[in-house]
Amino acid sequence: MSRLADYTTLGVGGPARSLIHATTEAELISAIEAADSLGEPLLIIGGGSNILIGDDGFAGTVIRVETTGNSYEIDACSGGMLQVAAGVGWDEFVAFTIEKGLANLESLSGIPGTVGGAPIQNIGAYGHDVSEVIARVRTYDRIAKAVKTFTAAECGFSYRSSIFKESGDRFVILDVTFHLRRGEESLAVAYPELANELGVRIGDRAPVTKVREAVLKLRARKGMLEGIGIASAGSFFTNPVVSQSVAAALPIDAPRWPQEDGSVKLSAAWLMEHSGVVKGERVGNAAISDHHVLALTNAGSATAAEIVELARSAQARVKRAFGITLEPEVQFVGVKL
Ligand SMILES: Cc1cc2nc3c(=O)[nH]c(=O)nc-3n(C[C@H](O)[C@H](O)[C@H](O)COP(=O)(O)OP(=O)(O)OC[C@H]3O[C@@H](n4cnc5c(N)ncnc54)[C@H](O)[C@@H]3O)c2cc1C
Repeated sequence: MSRLADYTTLGVGGPARSLIHATTEAELISAIEAADSLGEPLLIIGGGSNILIGDDGFAGTVIRVETTGNSYEIDACSGGMLQVAAGVGWDEFVAFTIEKGLANLESLSGIPGTVGGAPIQNIGAYGHDVSEVIARVRTYDRIAKAVKTFTAAECGFSYRSSIFKESGDRFVILDVTFHLRRGEESLAVAYPELANELGVRIGDRAPVTKVREAVLKLRARKGMLEGIGIASAGSFFTNPVVSQSVAAALPIDAPRWPQEDGSVKLSAAWLMEHSGVVKGERVGNAAISDHHVLALTNAGSATAAEIVELARSAQARVKRAFGITLEPEVQFVGVKL
């Protein structure tokens, strides 16, 4: 039996009844169909960078999407259209686009996981979301038992969500098509910390390669890169989106970002820090990152139960202090908060 801890960035998770490495689209679809025809529970994983799997593991088939390859057209006027297999590493793809002289993905440098994982929660960082550059998502629909392509408008993208996340495990992403701009200038820098690192003002543009370098540097400083010896799933909670009256009741120095629909996005990290959650605190081998309060880490041989207990304790303190319930960003398999 395969230990799923070996396939998650948190390094947590019990065994799977069976684990299939799907390296081609045909293998992926036939493994899904085989499991579905037997009524076998199915879990799809990519890089395992946004998932917390319980200590009992998964009593069913786990398919790890390891498909590779891309096809692309780059035109001086219309930019680049790149169709990329779901199993390709996200940051490997970002680096590839920059090498090809394409812009618009630079702020999303250094996010772990796969291309297929990116649309699920509409990954975002430093003021930009991947939905800004997705043209199409090709999926296998497990109910219709057929390939279904979604245009960007049909993907239901919102803050850290999409139709793919909302519909549970119905759609398995096969590949994603991105529309990128040709050019050496980045998207407008939208985040104060990044603007500061680059020595530019908010709204300015900077060379794409410099933005990538700066983002990688900031991420390394916060322990938010894979492969630097910190086992986490990135931000454990999403930033809460609340009504104006809830936001108005918070202390004046609480960061807040008004949204187009009148709601207000808050900083989960600020709420945690101001309700007594401290960097480095532990439950067994589960720890709040020393670098970033929003990342829960495996500081040794943590169990999923320890991670959950630490998350519950942080969530309860924020609720007690501010009346706000933090929602997990990480996907739970066989565990509950
Ligand atoms: C250090 C660190 C930093 C991070 N920083 C960020 C950040 O800045 N911004 C951000 O948005 N996220 C961040 N994340 C979270 C994570 O990297 C992303 O959410 C990533 O896109 C997850 O991709 P994955 O392939 O690892 O998905 P997995 O963790 O393997 O899976 C996540 C979910 O997607 C489903 N899934 C995966 N692949 C497919 C597929 N092909 N078809 C259908 N369903 C699929 C799984 O079933 C699961 O529900 C960070 C994580 C880490 C560890």
